[in-house]
Amino acid sequence: SITDGLTKLYNSRHFYNQLRGEIDRSNRYDHPLSLLILDIDHFKVFNDSFGHLEGDKVLIRIGQVIKPLLRKMDSAYRYGGEEFTVILPETDGKEAQTVAQRIRKAVKKEKFTPKGSSTPESITISLGVTAYNPKEDISAFIQRADKALYGSKEDGRDQVSAIFI
Ligand code: GH3
Ligand code: MG
Ligand code: MG
Repeated sequence: SITDGLTKLYNSRHFYNQLRGEIDRSNRYDHPLSLLILDIDHFKVFNDSFGHLEGDKVLIRIGQVIKPLLRKMDSAYRYGGEEFTVILPETDGKEAQTVAQRIRKAVKKEKFTPKGSSTPESITISLGVTAYNPKEDISAFIQRADKALYGSKEDGRDQVSAIFI
């Protein structure tokens, strides 16, 4: 299977396969390729407050928010439990940062009213952005996006960080 049962986004196995293909394409044609990784902020607190089932609804909604913000050639994945990735072919780092900010703002606007809460809750996400460097291997590419995400967490969350080169 290539889809994640909960969010209906693609799963992490498909992510690695697709990214390998896009890396090959980028190297062959010398075209830009960018990657976003995003992670929900303080999601453990949300789960602990409202339960895992309500947390799952957040994951589903985030998938629904991301998808319409992407172009046809872009693809979104549930990378881990509460982490998502977006592959942006033919996209340079600057454009990828714009997409990342768009996703960050759209998620922040969503209102969640979990069972057991009397007021709507907001969710924020942190994002890491990077652009592919010709000939580098897949793990260096992913690790740099991860490192950028970690930077967003360290700087206080609810933000986009980019690392280039
Ligand atoms: P941070 O801002 O540092 O990312 O904090 P966090 O609490 O989101 O991060 P942490 O890594 O400490 O915990 C991630 C939490 O995500 C743990 C777990 O409760 C939740 N989580 C992971 N996968 C799922 C899932 O499939 N469903 C639900 N409901 N929660 C999940
Ligand atoms: Mg996480
Ligand atoms: Mg998290």
